[in-house]
Amino acid sequence: MSEHVNDGESHDIGIKRYIMYMLAKKINLIEFIEGETGHDFHKIGRQYRCACPIHGEKEPSFFVWQGSDDTWGFKCYGCQRKGTIIDFCIHYFELNSPIDALKVLAEKMQLGEDISIAKMLEAMSVKIDIEERIDCAHYVAATNCRVLLKKYFHSKEVREWIKSSYEQMSSHLENGHIEKIEDIGNMAHQKLVLKQNASLHGTIM
Ligand SMILES: [Zn+2]
Repeated sequence: MSEHVNDGESHDIGIKRYIMYMLAKKINLIEFIEGETGHDFHKIGRQYRCACPIHGEKEPSFFVWQGSDDTWGFKCYGCQRKGTIIDFCIHYFELNSPIDALKVLAEKMQLGEDISIAKMLEAMSVKIDIEERIDCAHYVAATNCRVLLKKYFHSKEVREWIKSSYEQMSSHLENGHIEKIEDIGNMAHQKLVLKQNASLHGTIM
C-alpha cells in the first residue's frame, strides 16, 4: 500500500507552529500570567520571578524572561516545567496538546475557535511586512519539509524533491511573486500533492 505524502496535515502543522512562535514573541508572558493567575512578578536581574502558578509553592522558584529572539519563556525550578506561552497554557489549564493551547488562546483573543493565521496575527496586531512574510514562508516551508522528511526520510527521491521545491519557493519570494502568506503555504502544499500524484505513487511503501 502506498501512503499519501500530503493530505494537508503538514501544511497545517507549519502554519500552526508559526502562529505558536509568533504568540511566544508577541504576547508578554508576564502580563498574561499575572492576568490569568493573579500572581505578581518581581524583577531579579533580567528575569522575573513569582510563586509557581502550576504546582503551587511558598518559596517562589518560577522565572519568566524574554530571550534574545524576543520570545518569552518560563521555567520553574520546583516542578521543572518550562517552555513558552503554549507550554504554560498546557500545564496551567491542564490541556492535552499544543493545538488545544492554541484554541484556548484564540478564545481569549475572542476569535472563537478560529485559529487561522490571518485572524490570529491580526488579533496580536502583528503587521506583516515583507521581511516577516519571508520569515514566515521559510518557517512554514522548513517545518513542512522537516515533517515530511521525518515521515519519508527513507526515500531519496522525496528528499531531493523537497530540497528543490524549497529552493524554488525561496526564489519566488525574493522576486516578489508571492504576496500572501497563505499563498506560500498553499503553493508548498500543491507542489507536494502534484509531485506525489505525478511520480511518487507506489514508490513509498
Ligand atoms: Zn512549578
